Amino acid sequence: MTSETDNSHNASPQTMVFLDLDDTIFQTLRKNPQGIHPATGTSFMTEAQRCFFDILLSAADVMVVPVTARDATQYGRTFLSGHPRITVSALYYCGLITTHGLRDNRWHNHMESLYRLLTPSIRDTYERVARLINSSSFKLYNVDDYYVTLKHTNTSDGNYIEMLQGLVQKLAYVVEGGGYNIYHNDNNVSLVPTFLDKKHAIDYLVQRYQPRLTIGVGDGLSDLGFMTRCDYGIFPGRSQIGRLLVGQSSLDISGSCEQPT
Ligand SMILES: [Mg+2]
Repeated sequence: MTSETDNSHNASPQTMVFLDLDDTIFQTLRKNPQGIHPATGTSFMTEAQRCFFDILLSAADVMVVPVTARDATQYGRTFLSGHPRITVSALYYCGLITTHGLRDNRWHNHMESLYRLLTPSIRDTYERVARLINSSSFKLYNVDDYYVTLKHTNTSDGNYIEMLQGLVQKLAYVVEGGGYNIYHNDNNVSLVPTFLDKKHAIDYLVQRYQPRLTIGVGDGLSDLGFMTRCDYGIFPGRSQIGRLLVGQSSLDISGSCEQPT
């Protein structure tokens, strides 16, 4: 990949919006049949998601930065990748930051130094997981040596969520030692180095651009780290975060009921 040599950029934007993509501003029709605006070829935006995105991109002096687990090829399939107002993107759980499509070298060198110390390595982890899983039910990927992910290939199997939850516990032994986080969302499980975290890239980009206001937008529990780094966090109502909060809220209400005094 071509690299960015001078890290040149425009003056500080007033606002930076760090925007998760999948299940935040688009998703497959299986997950939400109300998607009507094509977003990637296989994913679609609902009318509400389109309106939300348009608000972000039509506001003055707002810099929208996609922050996504997608790899470069997958990101290239999204309609955002060619949008003229999006200049900076952070891919592979922010293992790669690009500006105008050029790699940020300082960030890249920082990542490389961390990967050299990672145990087990991404390739070792891939091999260990490959030996553990039933390949007829899963597809396993080494995502360009950034992280490892697997997908259950038969979502019509009513037990696939339970099967994946059981697998997550076994995977914890595969990467024991604390070097990895394991994220489970729907039919995906990813093994991601702990240093590969969107919040670290947000810190880096905020330091670089010095915005007055930061907003984090995401749907998954793995997004909470970066969203709570921002001045404001926004999540879709029907999301992993939303479901968690509703559950906790119910527990809190029943557990803290006191007689008024
Ligand atoms: Mg997401």
